[in-house]
This record gives sequence, C-alpha cells and structure tokens, in this order.
Amino acid sequence: MAQEKATEPKACTLTIAGPTPPPENIIRQFRDQGWQVEIKPQNESTSSRMLFVDRLEQAIKRSRRYQDNIILFVVDLDDFKSINTRYGYSLGDKLLQEVSERLRGCLRQYDSVILLGSDEFAVILCDFNKINNAEAIADKILLHLSDPFYLPGAPEIFISASIGISSFPNDGQQVDTLLANSETAMRLAKEAGGNSYRYFTPDMNDRAARRKVKEMELRRALVHGAIKVHYQPIIELASGQVAGVEALVRWHHPEQGEISALEVISLANATGLIQPLGRQVMNQAIIQVGEWHKTCNSLNLYLSVNFSKNEFRDQQFEAKLSTILRDAGLPTSAFWLEITEDFLLDERQQPEKILTRLKDMGATLVLDDFDTGNVPLVHLRHFPIDAVKIDGSFLKDPSFYHEKEKFIRAIIAMAHNLDYKIIVKGIETEQQLDFLRRYNCDMAQGYYLARPMTALDFEPYIPR
Ligand code: C2E
Ligand code: MG
Repeated sequence: MAQEKATEPKACTLTIAGPTPPPENIIRQFRDQGWQVEIKPQNESTSSRMLFVDRLEQAIKRSRRYQDNIILFVVDLDDFKSINTRYGYSLGDKLLQEVSERLRGCLRQYDSVILLGSDEFAVILCDFNKINNAEAIADKILLHLSDPFYLPGAPEIFISASIGISSFPNDGQQVDTLLANSETAMRLAKEAGGNSYRYFTPDMNDRAARRKVKEMELRRALVHGAIKVHYQPIIELASGQVAGVEALVRWHHPEQGEISALEVISLANATGLIQPLGRQVMNQAIIQVGEWHKTCNSLNLYLSVNFSKNEFRDQQFEAKLSTILRDAGLPTSAFWLEITEDFLLDERQQPEKILTRLKDMGATLVLDDFDTGNVPLVHLRHFPIDAVKIDGSFLKDPSFYHEKEKFIRAIIAMAHNLDYKIIVKGIETEQQLDFLRRYNCDMAQGYYLARPMTALDFEPYIPR
C-alpha cells in the first residue's frame, strides 16, 4: 500500500536550487516518492539577484512604515567588455571587486551594494529623506571611480560608469518597476556618452542639469578669485577675550547672490573641487591671520579652519600646510583644524596617522559638530584630539533645561576629565551664554557674541 502511494506521481514539481546540486541519493529518494524533481543550479549572479530583491523588499517595507524614501542606483561600467578582452576575465573580476569596494566607500554603513549582472551594480540608499542629495552621491561615485585602479600584473586602469536613478515611492512601488526604471535611466546616461547619471523623472534631470551649471560656475569662481573668507570671533569664557577666529568660506554668485557655505562645500565635495577650494580658504585665512600676527606684537589669536575629509586625501596636505604657514609667518601653534566625525570613522583614510602627523607639527585638533551618538568620547582617545566643538542650538529649546541638562553636564564633565577643551557654537542668547559659564565650558561662538564678518570688520576684535 505504502509502495503504491509512493510511486504515484505527485501533482507538484519540487525545484531544488542552490549553489551546488544536492547528493544523488537524496534526489533519488524524492523521485522514488513520485516527485518531479527539477534541479536549478544557482550561480552567483542568481544568488546576488535574490539578495538584491530581498534587500530592496526589506527596504520598501521599512520605508512604508517610516514614510521615507529609497533611492535605487543602477551603476553600469562603461565599455567593461574591452577590459575583459584586453586583460582577461580574471583581472576583470578583480577589478569588479575593487569597484565594489570603492562604491561601498562612497556610502553609509546601512546602504547596500550588490553586483547584479556582469558589470552592473545596484546601490540601495535607505531612509533617504534628501532626494536632492542623490546627485551628490552619484557625483561622488563617478569621481571615486575615475581614480586609476592598480591591480597586480596590469598597467593602471581607468574606467567610468553610467548611473540610472529612481526612487521609491515616486518612481515605482515594486522591486521590478524600480529596477526597470533605474535601468532605463542608466541607458539614457550611457546614450549621453557615459560617465554621468540620469534620473528616471525628467524634472529631476532638469535640476541635475542646473547643478552641473553651478559646478562650472564654482570652477570659474575658483579661477577668478571669487571665493572669499569671513571670520567669526571665538571667545574664551573665563576672560571674555577673543581667543580665536573661525574661517568660513563665502561665495557671492553673480546672479544668485550669497550661496550658503554648506551648499558650496557639498558641491565642492561632490565634484572633486574640495581640495582646490579648501586650499584657497586655508591660504587666504592663514595669510590674513599671519598679517595680524605680524602687525600686532605677541598676538594671542588662533585661526581655526574647517576641513572636509576629502581634503586629507591629498598626500601633500601636511607639506603644503607647513609651507603656507611658514610663508605667512603664522606659528603652527596658532593653527587649529576643525575636523568632522565622518573623517574619524573612515578607517581607509587612516585618520589617526594623519592627525598624529598634524599634531606632531604643533597644530591643534578640534572635533567639530561633536555628537556623542556616533563617536563615543572614549573612542576619541584613539585620536590626538585637543578640543570638541558642540552645537549649542539645543540650549534654545526650553524643554532642554528640564530634560537634557544633566546629560549635557555629564558630557561636559567627562570631556573635561579627558582633558578636552569644550567650545560651544551657535550662541544666540544671554541665557545660552549663562549656561556655558555655569558649566565651565571653555569657549563660545555665536551671533550673540559676533557674526562672521570680513577681515576688515574683524580688526576691532583683534585682542591687543
Ligand atoms: P560650522 O563649522 O559649524 O560653522 C559655523 C556655522 O554656523 C557658520 O555657518 C556660521 O555662520 C554659523 N553661525 C555662527 N554663529 C551662529 C549662531 O549664533 N546661530 C546660527 N544659527 N548659526 C551661526 P556657515 O558659514 O554657513 O557654514 C556652514 C558650515 O559650512 C560650517 O559649519 C562648516 O561645516 C562648513 N564650512 C564653512 N566654511 C568651510 C570651509 O572653508 N571648509 C569646509 N570644509 N567647510 C566649511
Ligand atoms: Mg566649524
């Protein structure tokens, strides 16, 4: 009876898929029981495609719950076939691995990079609220891929890519639709000659085109000396004296007027202009403050300059800085560098080595926008940081005084125990300043004390 039942053909087909087929005896057992057995060898590309579908589905579910956006990039390498033909498939595979690493280096930890096909990657950017910034990331990817690749046994290899961009929920609600739309956009980028990106939606493309124009204008501004620096005093709370000055970039656009510093920096970072821009700011500010040092004997005024992490990718950074300081006659001890958490977290850049070299030169290192959420104070001990700068805007919130005061007091006490100076920026009221004095913060900066201004306007603030 059991035998009869076992040989009766089943209505269903059993499909076994996996990287390797199951052992013969297992397959035979199922066949003996009457199953139609279908073996589907699953190669790497099918499994990564399944991984992609799974990741995007998870992201969509999450996004529905939290009502935010997902950006899907399809990144396709331009003319990758010729690389395989010229150097062979094994080197081609190595190159793809390197490309995947570089893509990862452009993203946050929780974004995904998945190889979809022979030379096509999917990049999923989750909980993305600033859709407008998708192009900054696309620019960053194109820029990083344009650096030469050095692989064993091959000359330096240059590649480029075409990127198609679609977003959830605007351009599609399902995995397949989003993928198809990103691929369509990617083909538009390829048709336009490659090494570029396109959105699926036309109006987004218009915006991206306007941004390209802005990039050209920034290039022009750099060449024609239109990048200026403003100076904001930093006050030492114990004495009430001006102790330092922060240099802040300013770009007055011929038609649009003042462009916000954040926009300038984001554009410069995305387009590879951050190093020339940063150098101009550093140059102007060091020359200016050096001038003040020369004209006012034994002046006690330090200069603090902001740096994006990409500025430290310049191998000559410290050498150039030394030369500028020496030529301007500004002692290195009067030079402070404001760095950000993303630089400390970028292990590939080996930030501790760069910072140690700068520290050995005699410069002071400040962690700007210090936020205990990302880099715990204890972790900071790996780096030779001297001071942390906190945004004081939280002090404007009346509920703060009940809820967060103890917490902030604890951070201040802990930072002091670890010998960090504390600078608080964004001080707009007397009440905020009182708080800082009460808890022995070291320095303060903000509109209440003085706004950023031209070098000429700053002169009355020079401590004499
Ligand atoms: P940041 O380093 O935190 O600089 C302080 C920013 O806060 C400046 O904005 C300053 O004008 C503004 N600020 C000063 N006091 C107050 C205040 O009391 N209330 C408010 N609401 N804001 C105040 P700005 O000049 O627009 O610069 C924005 C950011 O752009 C800077 O933030 C810095 O992260 C970046 N940045 C500016 N210049 C440079 C530069 O030369 N290089 C780099 N890498 N980044 C720069
Ligand atoms: Mg700063």
